Amino acid sequence: MATQTGKINVQTENIFPIIKKFLYSDHEIFLRELVSNAVDATQKLTALSSLGEFKGKLDDTTIEISLDKDKKTLTIKDKGIGMTAEEVEKYINQIAFSGAKEFMEKYKDKVEGNPIIGNFGLGFYSAFMVASKVELKTLSYKEGAKAVSWTCDGSPEYTLEEIKKKDRGTEIILHIADDSVEFLEEYRIKEILKKYCRFLPIEIKFKDEVINNTKPAWTRKPSDLKDEDYKNFYNELYPFADEPLFHIHLNVDYPFNLTGILYFPKLKNNIEVQKNKIQLYSRQVFITDSVDGIVPDFLTLLHGVIDSPDIPLNVSRSYLQSDGNVKKISAHITKKVADKLEELYKNQKEDFEKKWDDIKLFIEYGMLTDDKFFERSPKFYLLKNTDGNFFTQEEYLEKIKPLQTDKDKKVIFLYTNNPTEQHAYIQQAKDRGYDVLVMDTPFTAHLAGKLEQKIENTSFVRVDADVIDKLIKKEENTISKLSDKEKEAVKEVIETIVPKEKYSVVFENMSESDQPITITQPEFMRRMKEMSAIGGGMFGASMPEMYNLVVNANHPLVSKIATESNADVKKSITKQATDLALLSQGLLKGEELTNFIKRSVDLIAKQ
Ligand code: ADP
Repeated sequence: MATQTGKINVQTENIFPIIKKFLYSDHEIFLRELVSNAVDATQKLTALSSLGEFKGKLDDTTIEISLDKDKKTLTIKDKGIGMTAEEVEKYINQIAFSGAKEFMEKYKDKVEGNPIIGNFGLGFYSAFMVASKVELKTLSYKEGAKAVSWTCDGSPEYTLEEIKKKDRGTEIILHIADDSVEFLEEYRIKEILKKYCRFLPIEIKFKDEVINNTKPAWTRKPSDLKDEDYKNFYNELYPFADEPLFHIHLNVDYPFNLTGILYFPKLKNNIEVQKNKIQLYSRQVFITDSVDGIVPDFLTLLHGVIDSPDIPLNVSRSYLQSDGNVKKISAHITKKVADKLEELYKNQKEDFEKKWDDIKLFIEYGMLTDDKFFERSPKFYLLKNTDGNFFTQEEYLEKIKPLQTDKDKKVIFLYTNNPTEQHAYIQQAKDRGYDVLVMDTPFTAHLAGKLEQKIENTSFVRVDADVIDKLIKKEENTISKLSDKEKEAVKEVIETIVPKEKYSVVFENMSESDQPITITQPEFMRRMKEMSAIGGGMFGASMPEMYNLVVNANHPLVSKIATESNADVKKSITKQATDLALLSQGLLKGEELTNFIKRSVDLIAKQ
């Protein structure tokens, strides 16, 4: 064959500058594309060999990447099927012609479990993003095939000539352009290979080092893997992370292709920084670690790998979200996660409860943002009380119904977000035989609202939302020892002590043994404030703190305040009682607290 020159069949003369500028913002992916091609070519040969269509020896099929700094070249060399001159014409010269597609069509029913990478991106031509000239030397596996070299400097003209080349396969030599010299750096090439190629199915060598694990855990059968293997794989993905809590091995082949392993990490209360650890692969080629749009938001808190050739790549996020396959994949993963949680609670209850505090945030986030997941949650969303006991919603409802149903037949779920700070309130509730839940995530306010809607005739009320008698309203107790006039007098003194805008004085007819003064914060007000603090509330985050200062109209000390004639004594008793109430809500601080302590010491000294 004489040296041949020709023009690449493209619509526009200027396709290369376009490739360079617009196709990928990340030029580094050229290497991913070329190595993927090399892997494809190798897998095709392996497939042909197993079908008996290739009778020669496969030998070592390692793909080698090498740098020559002096010549300014980067070479990718495989021992795959190679190409004949006609094939180079066809596959390399005709852009948008996918040899992989044709190959798949021809052999798709014959080869099992050996899929071919390809059909994403521009593939081979992405080399021109970084190279001023590309040489391709190839020898087809076919008997009697002649080796050819194809060269192109980035213009639509190319040369094709016969050459001497003994070993089967393709060698691609990139003459790195002046504006891309970073790709002549060893560390940079290694970094790119580690990023995109670390789980490719054919061995990749660079500088005598094998870059990849060709059989990562997600490609293996779950029945062949032990717990240890999953943990080791997690370690390989995230070398410094804490051990994961559980894993889910995904394996779907209809109606779409999806494999992967998802891990539940230990979550800390700040969720934003923990997102986007899932890595997306397409047939073991790394694509991205930003899976938003592909999986529901709450699932981005999970870690691990998803591998699917059915996720359209190189398209915008908004397009992804509306893609039918992506929607199905997303729904499928949600379902699998719910299945797993349900199974874990059913079969490994104790372990599940032990890990509850580490997964509750993830579950609550899912319940709030994904309706399907919320529907499933009664089977695995647990309620934990202050004694550390766990219940499903159904079990808990049964438990508290007898004592915690109010006069309007509403069942009241009492909760605390901080058992230490709200100890006094919890104790009072317990003294009445009530049970108190611990609900302490940033989602509590939102979640309480959502559960109230779901479980009919229930209400979630934090223990410090009202005085004990009012938390769960039973029969009204109308007897008050104070007259209206006396109440007015007490209110007047209190308002000289605490600011009116922050504390509303209210009177309750409580028992003599209850506290004389209690500070409460109405459930609704507090929830609105909390919700607006993490977003999604009706009011701005600058909502003021407001409390009720509840005066027990039946307490002897309150009667004393009402009837005391010495104004100084009246005020100092009131001050002390008010400070005690503030103290038990953690609201007495700074100078006020110092003064209180000093005053208390003086009082003791007077005894
Ligand atoms: P795709 O891989 O998506 O089909 P490419 O532009 O990357 O698109 O490659 C076009 C075709 O060129 C491939 O389908 C394949 O037939 C052929 N090809 C590319 N690289 C190689 C290689 N290293 N060995 C053999 N054939 C190759």
